[in-house]
Amino acid sequence: MSYVDEVIELVEKKNASEPEFLQAVKEVLESLRVVVEANEDLYRREALLERLVEPERQLKFRVPWVDDKGQVQVNTGYRVQFNSAIGPYKGGLRLHPSVNIGIIKFLGFEQIFKNSLTSLPIGGGKGGSDFDPKGKSDREVMAFCQSFMTELCKYIGADTDVPAGDIGTGAREIGYMYGQYKRIRGLSEGVLTGKGLSYGGSLARTEATGYGLLYLTKEMLKLNGQDIAGKTVAVSGSGNVAIYATQKAQQLGAKVVTLSDSTGWVYDPDGIDVAAVKEIKEVKRARLTEYKNYRPNAEYHEGRGVWSVKVDIALPCATQNELLLEDAKLLVANGVTAVAEGANMPTTLEATKYLQDNGVLFAPGKAANAGGVATSALEMSQNSERLSWTFEEVDTKLQTIMVNICHNMSDAAEKYGMKGNYVAGANIAGFEKVANAMLAQGVC
Ligand code: NDP
Repeated sequence: MSYVDEVIELVEKKNASEPEFLQAVKEVLESLRVVVEANEDLYRREALLERLVEPERQLKFRVPWVDDKGQVQVNTGYRVQFNSAIGPYKGGLRLHPSVNIGIIKFLGFEQIFKNSLTSLPIGGGKGGSDFDPKGKSDREVMAFCQSFMTELCKYIGADTDVPAGDIGTGAREIGYMYGQYKRIRGLSEGVLTGKGLSYGGSLARTEATGYGLLYLTKEMLKLNGQDIAGKTVAVSGSGNVAIYATQKAQQLGAKVVTLSDSTGWVYDPDGIDVAAVKEIKEVKRARLTEYKNYRPNAEYHEGRGVWSVKVDIALPCATQNELLLEDAKLLVANGVTAVAEGANMPTTLEATKYLQDNGVLFAPGKAANAGGVATSALEMSQNSERLSWTFEEVDTKLQTIMVNICHNMSDAAEKYGMKGNYVAGANIAGFEKVANAMLAQGVC
């Protein structure tokens, strides 16, 4: 049996109840096969893959807090410190009822390669809780965040582990967590990214994941002789990534016609009104059903269906496994030419394969959405030097990083005889740096 197959079997045996983690490991290891085979004896002797799939540290803790009725609630908190070979653990905190250890491990594992791809010195980690901020008062969210950080603060720091936002964790949650960290540890340091601008945040961090997604998509199209201007785009989600992806797509001359949330989706033939979505989602924290009140020409549909519209480009920006094989078939039938993942692992393995087999340019999340963590690393740099850069400075660096990621994943795919397979290219480019660092640092 090949080394890759042995390790996949081992992971299946040890993590049988964590389907998302298994999915992520399989996807990565399958595409690394050619690199691993070329170094099989060395990697085997060093147990490199066994070490890669085992988190360095995995924390699980109780998060008790008091709701507005005086009732004590209990949630579970997680932090997986997956791999620090190239720098301090870095990765977001997800607050969503679906969170469990398998989800956090899949996200942490992906983060290792994504962070490596940015070319910045950051290792991989992820955390979160099954707490649902939806429908909670500000005071309840603060009570949860303070309790969560009371425990987490023992394990993180500006040079060890630097969490950030993710689903359910926006500026409000980061603010409450930062305040509590500072209060307990007495340190004004860059321990979290995505902070408010008045206390160490970076300009352009809010926009970075969505903007970065479009910078990479534009470059990928360019490499393949296409232009983003004039293209019609379907975006899913209506959170941070989706909103700023839509905004940048429009600035680049494309027309975004869909958005979605966890209950339904909108189709706006005239192009999505970003200001309206910001008001609905960021100010009112309401549902997309309200969109029709702003744009009478738009349609609102309950349930799934965002991939049924005829578009040139699809950008899944909501959550994992939201673009299924049946959706990929619809997109191909409707003539889609490119798919780039704003969310983490939004496309199932079967859907990804179908899109690639049908000639669709496919940019995996670990490359396409790396702009968020890259800009978080830029926020860490600014915090370390106690300076703030202008929006343009950060945005220019972000553009350079995304263009480089695009070329690195393309070159790596070509080098190993898989031209145009950006999934393999991104995994290989991310892996090589981490593998070399792990080997150089000995058995640890
Ligand atoms: P937000 O919480 O801001 O938005 C998430 C969006 O996805 C919301 O519109 C939400 O709908 C929708 N959504 C969440 N769960 C589901 C579900 N099960 N089914 C359908 N829709 C769902 O999160 P972000 O925009 O920050 O993150 C989106 C994705 O991008 C995630 O996969 C995240 O890991 C990834 N990502 C985020 C980065 C960042 O910088 N924020 C960086 C890199 C990746 P509703 O409004 O109803 O809740």
